[in-house]
Amino acid sequence: MARADGILQGAPLDALRQRHRGPLLLPGDDGYDAARAVWNGMIDRRPAVIARCRGPADVMAAVDAARTAGLPVSVRGGGHNVGGKAVCDGGVMLDLTAMRWVHVDPERRRARAGGGTLWGDFDHEAQAFGLTCTGGVVSTTGVAGLTLGGGIGYLTRRHGLACDNLLSADLVTADGRLVHASDDRNPELMWALRGGGGNFGVVTSLEFQLHPVGPEVAAAVVFYPIDQAEDVLRRYRTYAEAAPDAIACYAMVVNAPPDLPAEHQGRPVLAIVGCHADDVDAGRELLQPVAGFGRPIAAVIDAMPYTALQTSFDAGNPTGQRYYWKSQHLTGLPDELIDAVCRYARDLHGDFTIIGIEPLGGAQGRVPPDATAFPHRSVPFSLGIWTGWADPAADRDNVAWTRDFFAAVQPFGAGAYVNYLGDDEADRVGEAYGGNMARLVEIKRRWDPDNLFRVNHNIAP
Ligand SMILES: Cc1cc2nc3c(=O)[nH]c(=O)nc-3n(C[C@H](O)[C@H](O)[C@H](O)COP(=O)(O)OP(=O)(O)OC[C@H]3O[C@@H](n4cnc5c(N)ncnc54)[C@H](O)[C@@H]3O)c2cc1C
Repeated sequence: MARADGILQGAPLDALRQRHRGPLLLPGDDGYDAARAVWNGMIDRRPAVIARCRGPADVMAAVDAARTAGLPVSVRGGGHNVGGKAVCDGGVMLDLTAMRWVHVDPERRRARAGGGTLWGDFDHEAQAFGLTCTGGVVSTTGVAGLTLGGGIGYLTRRHGLACDNLLSADLVTADGRLVHASDDRNPELMWALRGGGGNFGVVTSLEFQLHPVGPEVAAAVVFYPIDQAEDVLRRYRTYAEAAPDAIACYAMVVNAPPDLPAEHQGRPVLAIVGCHADDVDAGRELLQPVAGFGRPIAAVIDAMPYTALQTSFDAGNPTGQRYYWKSQHLTGLPDELIDAVCRYARDLHGDFTIIGIEPLGGAQGRVPPDATAFPHRSVPFSLGIWTGWADPAADRDNVAWTRDFFAAVQPFGAGAYVNYLGDDEADRVGEAYGGNMARLVEIKRRWDPDNLFRVNHNIAP
């Protein structure tokens, strides 16, 4: 077997082998390159060892090995972080993809999920009982990574952020212990896990509060030509600002999907996609105005399985392509911002690019900013410039376009969201935590004073 490139070898590697049940992959091993690949194909890092953990005991062994050898740790949940924080160069990568499980307790309306679970797994199990909680809008995203950073989705306005639904977590801390965090046990740590990212340990399982949702919800999927975008977005703004909590509609500029008429192919279109989280009939009525923001190319407002809505963007975000993101929360959608978005939307760069306006407010907006680590509770919208493309030769052009676009809209910003930060945005971590930063630093000092968990959007102790 190949050696770990002179970084993790000898006694520490032998000790890890004795304690670790799942496979350990070293550079040159079969499967090593596949295991270090993540959603963003721009990420190319080479861990000293990849520990494919089967459970908490393996996680404890791998954390101990990294600490003893003085190597950094990275944690792969769903592998969707655009900055590639799941993978490290020359450290110990804990790959939790074998820890994908969900246990639902329908009577208590609770679910517990393993640290490597994806939202598609979670919704599949919970929807069997007509239950779920807020998750991301792409089913292949990791439950742990998304929740630990906050977690925005179709149910945010109705049921809060994903992290607002997090009841407890088990995690392996920097000293290699398995610790339980809840509002009763280690409450400061629990506070930090609700938005503070992967800074405090390796989360082996998460317990969530579930709510009755679906299995069918009223959903809207409406496409408008890009030349109506200015008017449609102004009407969208009026509608979204007045909508009840149960309604969450995203406005997204995408390249026309293949099922739209030929004259729109090869051009960007504006999609309004959303749902009503409660009653299907009432929801259908309340969503009708979405088809009247302009003259749509196509409009469907009808009952749809919640799991179908939750997978509707999967194909548009293929794994292994090249991605570069910029994003920010917004104080509102003033005309000047809408006009800037439309200008860049007409010149959309990249095959898989999405310009997304996410609706916030509602239930998550009524949580006090210091009640969880996630501070940005009063912002009504968030803007994502999620640029994606296939050809490496287009890297420079697409990155430049994204940066230019962001510079044009930055004056309308109201803070950063840690889950959307790119690898070159370490300087925006403070913007993501705002007034909660000092408390997070204190908690980091207590639980990870040597910053073993630093391959993330880091809160330095
Ligand atoms: C296609 C796509 C769609 C998205 N949609 C949404 C959305 O709708 N809403 C939203 O809020 N965000 C969304 N995101 C952003 C997403 O929340 C972040 O990318 C998040 O980091 C993904 O978590 P992951 O587990 O998949 O990623 P990973 O890359 O595996 O991990 C991300 C970070 O979390 C840490 N981490 C992961 N698992 C654990 C664990 N078990 N214990 C400790 N730390 C852990 C990692 O160390 C890393 O720092 C989306 C991202 C993509 C690529």
